Amino acid sequence: MDSPVPPDVALLDRFAAIVGDRYAVRDRDDISPYITERRGLWHGKTPLVLRPGSVEEISAILKLATETRTPVVPQGGNTGLVGGQVPDASGSEILLSLSRLNRIREIDPLSNTVTAEAGVILENLHKAADEVDRLFPLSLGSQGSAQIGGNLSSNAGGTGVLAYGNARELCLGVEVVLPTGEIFDDLRKLKKDNTGYDLKNLFVGAEGTLGVITAAVLKLVPKPKGREVAWVGLESPRAALELFGLASDRAGGSLTAFELIAEMPLSFAEKHAPGTIRPLADKWPWYVLMEISSGRSAEDARDLAEHILSEGLEAGLAGDVVIAANLAQGAAFWAIREALSDTQRPEGASIKHDISVPVASIPEFIERAGKAVEAVSAGARVACFGHLGDGNLHYNVSQPVGGDAEAFLALYRPMNKVVHDIVRDLDGSISAEHGIGQLKRDELLATAPPTAIDLMRRVKAAFDPAGIMNPGKVI
Ligand SMILES: Cc1cc2nc3c(=O)[nH]c(=O)nc-3n(C[C@H](O)[C@H](O)[C@H](O)COP(=O)(O)OP(=O)(O)OC[C@H]3O[C@@H](n4cnc5c(N)ncnc54)[C@H](O)[C@@H]3O)c2cc1C
Repeated sequence: MDSPVPPDVALLDRFAAIVGDRYAVRDRDDISPYITERRGLWHGKTPLVLRPGSVEEISAILKLATETRTPVVPQGGNTGLVGGQVPDASGSEILLSLSRLNRIREIDPLSNTVTAEAGVILENLHKAADEVDRLFPLSLGSQGSAQIGGNLSSNAGGTGVLAYGNARELCLGVEVVLPTGEIFDDLRKLKKDNTGYDLKNLFVGAEGTLGVITAAVLKLVPKPKGREVAWVGLESPRAALELFGLASDRAGGSLTAFELIAEMPLSFAEKHAPGTIRPLADKWPWYVLMEISSGRSAEDARDLAEHILSEGLEAGLAGDVVIAANLAQGAAFWAIREALSDTQRPEGASIKHDISVPVASIPEFIERAGKAVEAVSAGARVACFGHLGDGNLHYNVSQPVGGDAEAFLALYRPMNKVVHDIVRDLDGSISAEHGIGQLKRDELLATAPPTAIDLMRRVKAAFDPAGIMNPGKVI
């Protein structure tokens, strides 16, 4: 796009007229929650937030945006971690909030599908599925605010990916408004459909750079009849990997979570998340949070979990284990897992990585990255946790105790570089589930194969010739 110029009042009025004054937010205080990301890491500027109530209004907005070359930033629950949903600082971009498009259009338990609008909050979709004895298995720490359109646009992962797949794998069809204002209606419930290019999958994970997702058909699964949650203490990531192999082998699809947690982030949670009780009395260098689900019964899940864990103990992989005695204790184990991210903040500055490597390379990655981090910042504290079963770790590094936050954050790039170099060496990804947004755009452009970048640019130009959709994000 040409250098950004803030839209004049007459143009803002034309946009506002599409949704009506009530849903065109211009007051600075009212705009404020939309232009700052929740952790306060990303700030932007916009003269106008539009809150359309229908697909037709979105179509009219994007048509006008393309005609007038006005950049548009779509926003769902504003929980994204890479700055994709925040406008830039020029004040030339208008923000499109999807929160009023929040209807569940249909639930079809026989087809195991739900058709939901983009602004449906993930937790509300969970409740709707539960009411028809089904499960929508996308599960994130942000599910009380994150919306379906945001989940799909960022191809969210979370703790259910191991058994059920990420947002992309849970999506059967989409309805999208293209930058030109055309409506692409592909809301189909088909598990099998080989009719040409898979267009929906271009929009999933596009972070709002190709169009606005307005609704989707999502997969539901039968609700498990029994669930067991166990907490395991172990000596090393290698032992955790071997335990994962054992658990996958014995449980197959019944292994619904296998999360790895180092002692460091657990100690942060114990200190800063009120009410946290360590599941095991003794400290171990590493822990695994394992969940087994059964479609048959609670007893079946219990038997399977006990079987796996006693084999793990006998083989010397697990050091100590506890199976949650009841649902409340299981929820308490999960609450510890969900607290790991936020409880890093009181420990000072942190440098984050959302990486994936082949599952078998997790121990090597952790060993090599630990040494590399220490070489960049002696005494930095690695708060590593994540979805071992998906090969995805949140490899976060907190500043040394008593260190200077600013001096530590000045190491963001060198720290990212050493960690990401190891990731690349292991054929991994520098963004496993959070996306590219603003945060990793330059690194993506600098390190992805040129052919991949060229193809992405050509796709972008084909869908968005005027370059109005979320410019400066992803590519
Ligand atoms: C506490 C916490 C825990 C989290 N845990 C996880 C996790 O386990 N796994 C994970 O993957 N992520 C996680 N996240 C990140 C985040 O919650 C997810 O990326 C989520 O899917 C974003 O949804 P959202 O509605 O908030 O989207 P937003 O943040 O509003 O937007 C995200 C991106 O999608 C675009 N977008 C939003 N809606 C649309 C639409 N309708 N059409 C087109 N583009 C759109 C935006 O422009 C932006 O680029 C976590 C975040 C927090 C704060």
